[in-house]
Amino acid sequence: MDSSSPYAGLAARPMTGDADVVDLRSDTVTRPCAEMRAAMAEAAVGDDVYGEDPTVAALETALAARLGKAAAALFPTGTQSNLAALLAQCGRGAEFLVGDRYHTYVYEAGGAAVFGGVVPCALPCAEDGSVSAARVEAAVKPDDPHYPVTRLLALENTVWGRALPLSALEAPAEAARAHGLRVHLDGARFFNATTALGVAETALAGVADTVSVCLSKGLGAPIGSVLVGDAETIGAARRLRKALGGGMRQAGVAAAAGLFALERTVARLSEDHARAETLRAAIDGVDGLRAPAHPGMTNMAFVTPEDGDCDGLRAHMAERGVRLGGGGPTIRLVLHRDVDDAGLDRAIEAFRRYRA
Ligand SMILES: *Cc1c(COP(=O)(O)O)cnc(C)c1O
Repeated sequence: MDSSSPYAGLAARPMTGDADVVDLRSDTVTRPCAEMRAAMAEAAVGDDVYGEDPTVAALETALAARLGKAAAALFPTGTQSNLAALLAQCGRGAEFLVGDRYHTYVYEAGGAAVFGGVVPCALPCAEDGSVSAARVEAAVKPDDPHYPVTRLLALENTVWGRALPLSALEAPAEAARAHGLRVHLDGARFFNATTALGVAETALAGVADTVSVCLSKGLGAPIGSVLVGDAETIGAARRLRKALGGGMRQAGVAAAAGLFALERTVARLSEDHARAETLRAAIDGVDGLRAPAHPGMTNMAFVTPEDGDCDGLRAHMAERGVRLGGGGPTIRLVLHRDVDDAGLDRAIEAFRRYRA
């Protein structure tokens, strides 16, 4: 090992805790690769709470420009980025409209209500995860002291792995705007959506006033999400970020991973989508398992054991070194940077042996 460099030899270290396991639980399990770690080690840093971290500034500027927005702020997590967006655009006693399957409604511990006195109003999603303009129209409250003040519509794309076409977002967004509502897009897997749809990144971001993008999912960064929007809203979100405990210091170490991801790993997301479809098609032919195709599916597949024995399927796969996520009656399978063709083949082989 070359002792002249503090990070010499990094590439030789194992990048995965258990390189032998094919982990299909989530794309959040991706570990930063050696090149990403080198970029992190080399990052110029400063105190970002003082606005002095050049790498954080570079990431924020790059993503804002790329998505056609005026400003951006780096957050430790997507949950905090979504929360700051909701709080920045809704006051206490306001409500936001949100699909009943969306992360901001189901999986963020009710943060907007807990920390901001903002009430969610859940709209039933269609089968593809979209919310209709008619549902939005019907949910906006009249100006009457009985009601909370409806301030924002929260959308999501991809939704459960499915990329919704622009039209499916534009219609509810237009209905919301017609009533003076703001529109937020939870784009945790924003680039999976643009990759699958083949639409311009500015076009998808243009649907909403604010967009939250995760760096720590399929893009492979270890940490971080970025909120983009107009300067005033992002300014308010920065203040909220401090209040929420998300003001980070030498965050350039994390931002360098995000910049690396934007430059180097967005372009390979289509590989994950192709592997997800290969896996799905292979599973759907296996006796006792169903894995139907869903239009617009990106890096995920969903498998249902016909006998309902999800634990049995998980145990069968685990014995063969393939880790599946929890829950039932359908199990989500997620493809990502740390599953290559060899890992895919192992997973397919293991599924084929189910009940065989
Ligand atoms: C993962 C995810 C988030 C944010 O997740 P964090 O774990 O807080 O970074 C938000 N929305 C969706 C749809 C997600 O999948």
